[in-house]
Amino acid sequence: MSNSDARVKVLRVPDQYNPTMRMRRIISRWAGRVVFYVPTASKTMSVSFDDGPTSPCTGRVLDVLDKHNVKATFFMMGRCVERDPALAREVAARGHTVGSHSHYHQGMGMFSEADAEEAIKRSRNLIVDATGQDTHLFRPPYGAMNDEVRAACVKNGIVVAGWTFSSGDWYGYGQPRIASRMAKMVCPGTILLFHDGDKGRRGADRPMTPGGLDQTLDFLLSEGWSCVDIPCLLDEWSKPMCDFGSDALLLGMSSNPCPGGEPGVDVHLFWDTPKKPPRAYSVSIGGTSQTAMMPDPNDLEHRASTLYFRDVSREADAVQVRVSVSGLGTHESTLQVNQAEVSRRV
Ligand SMILES: [Zn+2]
Repeated sequence: MSNSDARVKVLRVPDQYNPTMRMRRIISRWAGRVVFYVPTASKTMSVSFDDGPTSPCTGRVLDVLDKHNVKATFFMMGRCVERDPALAREVAARGHTVGSHSHYHQGMGMFSEADAEEAIKRSRNLIVDATGQDTHLFRPPYGAMNDEVRAACVKNGIVVAGWTFSSGDWYGYGQPRIASRMAKMVCPGTILLFHDGDKGRRGADRPMTPGGLDQTLDFLLSEGWSCVDIPCLLDEWSKPMCDFGSDALLLGMSSNPCPGGEPGVDVHLFWDTPKKPPRAYSVSIGGTSQTAMMPDPNDLEHRASTLYFRDVSREADAVQVRVSVSGLGTHESTLQVNQAEVSRRV
């Protein structure tokens, strides 16, 4: 038999049906980088959960996700997985993606590379043992990290997964407020943050999360949104809004009336700023201009930059926004103001 006869024909499986290949591709592109928003025109977004798994909250969240046929991403704490491996297994068995949220929920802003590696590996190993699913996604507690943590992530093929907007479920918001806030703030490529635990505390409950999530998904799915896990959302990555050069990359922008009911609108800017030091930029709408600094790349909590324009009518359908980066240029966009009103629909 010749060599050519012995060749086995390899059937290529498209990535979307092959989670391992998809994850490899994601690691090769994003290991050590922070993803917190995906530039896309597609009406696609993600929901994610931190601090679990805990009973009964995680089970209730899983039931809400099943009801809506939605797959999410759960950032689990090692100590929770250690306490309730069966619940962790159930999350993975029900088709969700699992990420790590460290072992003890310590802020990692002062961690050495070795400490960061230990915190990531310890929770990752527990997750693999409990769920049978390896994880390459890591969300640092409090969104706090430093260059040492980043180096540990690069070394271990870990993608740092931030979030775009928080639901406020940790802040004591009620269910309607969570849903109306999320409906207003969501835009294509958004990663929403919820909690199915409380920093690993035994018996912790998040009573508003399942209902708030249910109302949020009721509204968004009825409005034609697709809700996918973070690896699938990353597949939607397309052209960023404006590359100013010199590491000033504006991935996208969005706008909505101020969620607190105050006059005016919020404008959110999603900057990809991998290197320090942060640069200054200014945003103008009509005659009003504001200056701000690009976010610190190691501060995930404030990765989406929000500027408040009090003088713009909160009823405006669209605003003309001018973004200028000193010495690099100006970008102009017409932004639709998201006037979604959840109370009319649920
Ligand atoms: Zn947390």
